[in-house]
Amino acid sequence: MAWKVMMPKKIMFGENAAKEFPYPNKALIITTTTPDIYNNWLDYMGIKGYEVYDKVTPDPAIETVEAIQKEYESKDISCYVGLGGGSSMDVCKYLGKLTGKPKILIPTTFGTGAEMTTYAVISFSHKKKLLQDEAFLADAAIVDPYFLPGTPFNILRNSACDAAAQASEAYDSKLANPFTRFFCKEAFDILENGIINDKHDLLPYGAMLSGIGFGNASTTLGHALSYAFSNEGVPHGYALSSCTTVAHKFNKSIYYERFKRICQKLKFEPIKLKKPLDQAADDIMPDRGHLDNNPIPVTKQDVIKCLDEIVSGNPLL
Ligand SMILES: [Zn+2]
Repeated sequence: MAWKVMMPKKIMFGENAAKEFPYPNKALIITTTTPDIYNNWLDYMGIKGYEVYDKVTPDPAIETVEAIQKEYESKDISCYVGLGGGSSMDVCKYLGKLTGKPKILIPTTFGTGAEMTTYAVISFSHKKKLLQDEAFLADAAIVDPYFLPGTPFNILRNSACDAAAQASEAYDSKLANPFTRFFCKEAFDILENGIINDKHDLLPYGAMLSGIGFGNASTTLGHALSYAFSNEGVPHGYALSSCTTVAHKFNKSIYYERFKRICQKLKFEPIKLKKPLDQAADDIMPDRGHLDNNPIPVTKQDVIKCLDEIVSGNPLL
């Protein structure tokens, strides 16, 4: 069967990548941070003749995207630069789709590879929606460790777990192909080495490769289960520690033991659910995007069994 792989037109990785990138004039910088932080970043990048939109909030809404489009319509912007965490990049991706202008994505928190993917999370009527569109793909993705040292341990830990979950779930995905498996395997090896041996400087590279892999092959049951917990406020990467471990066990994944070891090393604790398991399973079952790509068919009873295993013992032992 034929397969297709997409990734940004240009990828720059490593020290000084964001400094050496030739930014066009009249770029619109989109960020969630404040001037005291991003002015230092922009100095470092050496970008000139730009505008800044810094009113993006976490979980950005479609109204924000449309407001930016309107505000800058008459200002002849050449491209968008998403500078920050996932929210800045998601807004940038959607704007690029609306206007057809190029987008440059620069993650500044140790990320999960979002700068590599055709996915964007945007809220419509206060509901977060995971969207996929080829038009979301970056024209350039720049991963520069300069931005990362400030990342707090909690965020680093959750992101590392997310990146490892993405790589290993996507490896097993029904949508995987030899090319994506190559990236997922390499990503997992690097992330595992970085986490187990405390070589945290390896994590950004591992996360970037994971982004290329899962961005083309999709995540599966572990991610589907995790949203029941995220809906109750458990951070995404944290929820995956237990959810992906149990999902890997269900799928008899070659990554089950290795993923669990990563979670033990990162000292994740068991997670709880307030909702009755049956109701949570009803919420999870319509998530066909993840469940249909799972290597083994998943019934509602399977989901309840997995949830029970997550909440009633410690799946990480
Ligand atoms: Zn994820």
